[in-house]
Amino acid sequence: MKEFDRVTALLEAKGIKPSLQRLLLLHYMHNAHDHPTVERIHADLVKQGHSLSKATVYNTLTLFVQNGLLRLVGLDHSEARYDILTCDHAHFVCERCGAIYDVPVDFDQLNLQFPEAEQVRQRDIFYRGVCKRCTTQD
Ligand SMILES: [Zn+2]
Ligand SMILES: [Zn+2]
Repeated sequence: MKEFDRVTALLEAKGIKPSLQRLLLLHYMHNAHDHPTVERIHADLVKQGHSLSKATVYNTLTLFVQNGLLRLVGLDHSEARYDILTCDHAHFVCERCGAIYDVPVDFDQLNLQFPEAEQVRQRDIFYRGVCKRCTTQD
């Protein structure tokens, strides 16, 4: 279980009991950099021989988001996607294949002002289009 040492420490640091299902899910997310959906995560874990329900996957991911271990990537007209990168960053979304690419951005440099905002919890930027992988396959 050495591969779970890191995720065990992360959960304990947040005061979350490191159950096997939680360890499995956080470990999965640390190896997934493509912003998977609940559906995908569940299907992959079942394929790996683990038996857990989709509701458990959803509830566990929600717990992780609430504790800052994951971020929720909100895109209109599509399922929620989960992000292991919890710092502020920008996304390029491919409208053809659905891939989401992480891009670092210096939000302070942008110097955006929101006069009505009392408190900013998270900063997101989305660019949309077609990715190189899709155009080279044409
Ligand atoms: Zn694409
Ligand atoms: Zn991301």
